[in-house]
Amino acid sequence: MERAFRNPANGHTESVGGMSWLAVVVFGALYLAYKGLWGHFFIWLLLVGGFSILTGGPGLIIALPLASIGYAIGINGILTNSYLRKGWVEVSGNSAGAQNSDLRDCPLCAETIKKAAVKCKHCGADVEPVVAPRLKNGWVASTSCCDEEEQQRTIEAIASAGLPVVSMIGLAVGAGPFETKEEAKQALITMRDGPRLFSEIVYRDSVSGKYPPIAD
Ligand SMILES: [Zn+2]
Repeated sequence: MERAFRNPANGHTESVGGMSWLAVVVFGALYLAYKGLWGHFFIWLLLVGGFSILTGGPGLIIALPLASIGYAIGINGILTNSYLRKGWVEVSGNSAGAQNSDLRDCPLCAETIKKAAVKCKHCGADVEPVVAPRLKNGWVASTSCCDEEEQQRTIEAIASAGLPVVSMIGLAVGAGPFETKEEAKQALITMRDGPRLFSEIVYRDSVSGKYPPIAD
């Protein structure tokens, strides 16, 4: 099974699996060096070189295949660990990037749609927007919308400004919820200066189901 890892610093993706084992068999330590696995490069040299020297040469016949087989079996795990240790993030093979982008699959037709979508653009199904806020209650920079189209545009604009989206009462949507009013105010400024959304600071209280505007 092939797995892919992405360097969050530059978006570069490397895959693990596939033919890595063959590269190890053919290129041996050179492949380990190429992948920057210097620790394993020296282990390989020590194992193969050391054993050959100790046995006066013939050991190479045993050590070389052993190292090749060992690393052919272990290379995927070694590469995976090395990428994860460097802070790379795994992107799953099929939906590469989907987990980390603003995309997801429509639960009905399985076509790719935006996470913030409330209606699938392919099959027209009504879908729950993925909001997944860190908090249920908190301060929100809320924008009221006249219709669903405006609501959809607003959701996308908030998401593209890098803010968490939360559904509010009626057609309103907001950025948040935030723990502090100050964070919500920052979101209000971001929404006003970026996508030109005009919002008000409200406290979202999902228990009572009321999101009354708070006078500043
Ligand atoms: Zn669909």
